[in-house]
Amino acid sequence: MDGYLEQEIKFLPGVGPARADLLEKEINVRTCADLLYYFPYKHIDRTKFYAIKEISDVDACIQFRAKIASMKKEGSPRKERLIIWVSDHTGSMELIFFKGLKYLSARLKVGSDYVIFGKPTSFNGRLNFVHPEMEPANQSEDRITAVLQANYNTSERMKNAFITSRVIGKLMIALWQGMKSPMPETLPEYIVQNHKLLPLHDALFNIHFPQSIVLLQKAQQRLKFEELFWIQLRMLFLREERNVTVSGFDFKRVGEYFNRFFAENLPFELTEAQKRVIREIRHDMSGGKQMNRLLQGDVGSGKTLVALMVMLIAIDNGFQTCLMAPTEILANQHFNTISQMVSALGLRVALLTGSTRKKERALIHEALLSGDINILIGTHALIENTVQLKNLGLVVIDEQHRFGVAQRAKLWNKDSCAPHVLVMTATPIPRTLAMTLYGDLDVSVIDQLPPGRHPVVTKHFFDNRRNGVYDFMRQQIAAGRQIYVVYPLISESEKMDYRNLEDGFEQIRATFPEGDGYSVIMVHGKMPAADKDLAMRLFKEGKTQIMVATTVIEVGVDVPNASVMVIESSERFGLSQLHQLRGRVGRGADQSYCILMTSYKLSKEGHERINTMCATTDGFLIAEADLKLRGPGDIDGTQQSGVPFRLHIASLATDGQLLHFARNIATDILAKDSALSQPENRLLLEMVKKQLNQEMDWRRVS
Ligand code: ADP
Ligand code: MG
Repeated sequence: MDGYLEQEIKFLPGVGPARADLLEKEINVRTCADLLYYFPYKHIDRTKFYAIKEISDVDACIQFRAKIASMKKEGSPRKERLIIWVSDHTGSMELIFFKGLKYLSARLKVGSDYVIFGKPTSFNGRLNFVHPEMEPANQSEDRITAVLQANYNTSERMKNAFITSRVIGKLMIALWQGMKSPMPETLPEYIVQNHKLLPLHDALFNIHFPQSIVLLQKAQQRLKFEELFWIQLRMLFLREERNVTVSGFDFKRVGEYFNRFFAENLPFELTEAQKRVIREIRHDMSGGKQMNRLLQGDVGSGKTLVALMVMLIAIDNGFQTCLMAPTEILANQHFNTISQMVSALGLRVALLTGSTRKKERALIHEALLSGDINILIGTHALIENTVQLKNLGLVVIDEQHRFGVAQRAKLWNKDSCAPHVLVMTATPIPRTLAMTLYGDLDVSVIDQLPPGRHPVVTKHFFDNRRNGVYDFMRQQIAAGRQIYVVYPLISESEKMDYRNLEDGFEQIRATFPEGDGYSVIMVHGKMPAADKDLAMRLFKEGKTQIMVATTVIEVGVDVPNASVMVIESSERFGLSQLHQLRGRVGRGADQSYCILMTSYKLSKEGHERINTMCATTDGFLIAEADLKLRGPGDIDGTQQSGVPFRLHIASLATDGQLLHFARNIATDILAKDSALSQPENRLLLEMVKKQLNQEMDWRRVS
């Protein structure tokens, strides 16, 4: 196998520099190994041959054997088509080609037999085939027999250059035929044996050239398993390594600040779930190891209070802490809430955001270095890039589920001892995704809402019912409540017919005029920070009843008296976004409502999203539905969901069980041999090291 897999495919027969270039650009295939791991997206049964008489208007590809009876070109020279009539002993069939006519007429011969493969179409009540695949019937020598034919994805540009799925299949044959020795196994023998996996060589062969349906399934199983297994092993290995090499501060005591706050300043009784996660976090921070923990809790479950209490533990042990938020609005809110909650304790809290004045910023930097500031609150970017503290002991990262390894590392690379890290998120992510994204974090879950909360009632209305919605808003305002109205855009866009903020603001102001005692305010991301802050404050203090906003208020904003969330053009939003937005209400004891407005034009998927929202308030169920709706294509390997790698064959949407299985095996192996130093694990260590080297790329960008 020496070097064969690393060879560039331009040396394979039939490739050449131009095709090689295109393959690399379009599907990222440069070497033989890349090609071998370019897996088919589906397989087609090519065992059955139809007789022409049997062919009907089916919605599937079929194949038949027939002789060319005649060929002729029709149409004007600029819009020429090639019409081929083929026949077998049962009848005849028309084939039509619009492209590649020169090539085809030179190759195809009247009187010869061909295997024809394609989807029959019905045109004017007559069946024909448009652009079917054609292959001389006797050309079986350069084929590898398989009962199912692999189908490969090809891009538009590849198709234009005649690199079809079938051409890729041919390259695969050339590749396979040039292979001098079997593919070496990548997993240790004992894993392959114990779990009855197909050896790698057989798996790769059968994924491209299935010898039976059973073997194809086994091949898929083996390759999916392996893909998921490496991810898990890598992550768990890193975690083990970190436990050995990185020491953490030992927060031995729970001291005066925590106890005084608990006894005198706690605004409400903690829920059992809040108590439990505080214990988990506390325990984690007192073992001499660095904490890397994810705190998951649905919107409104009370994560801020938990964050504050564990920050007090850090302060009790003589350390500074910081809390990072994704938006300025949220940083402001945290600063206000926390300053107020700790005001009796005499702690110094500082706020650092993009709009902090230069002079003040300099003062804060100084006070952080001297240790005068106990709690720093700010936006991610600011804290991450510019801040140095005297003795940072704990970092809390709010509402950021994409906070990658590299970002976490940035926080302490200046110091020898790493601060504890707590990442908090309400973004509902399915377990499979969580395991892949946060496989190296320990997880705490707040699975309980504070008492007295009613689930938000969610209703869908078409735009023509807006007046009814306005009536309802008037009633709610009369009862003393406040209302959010959210729009997807700031101003009119030509491309999209969505309701926009500025128009909406005018309309709401006209419907709820100041003369009648109403007060409406607007907030969006493009406003100066001071204006945003003022708008939020007025709303929070109850001085204004309606807040018209964009999604800047999507995460974290907490105004318990707001009990109605109206989302305009709600079909425009994704499920997790809708869930976050809805999470802005239902935070107090009053019954809350979420109203989803849409136009009549709703896609099937849009409909399902709206229905899901109306049917449940459970973030976990919504996350699962989201994964299914968006489908594996969207979730796997896309930056959107923050997954820092590409899955070639496994799917987080459908291979959950296999993922658990792979994780369990990785866990068992590391439990027995945490450094992978045993001889039977030599191969694992090699692979993990190799992968981690390659991974540095994504760590830089994550
Ligand atoms: P999230 O988890 O979404 O960040 P917050 O921390 O913003 O939630 O809390 C949501 C609301 O619930 C806030 O108004 C907060 O004051 C309140 N809250 C938090 N914990 C409790 C509790 N134990 N009992 C009652 N209300 C609580
Ligand atoms: Mg929050």
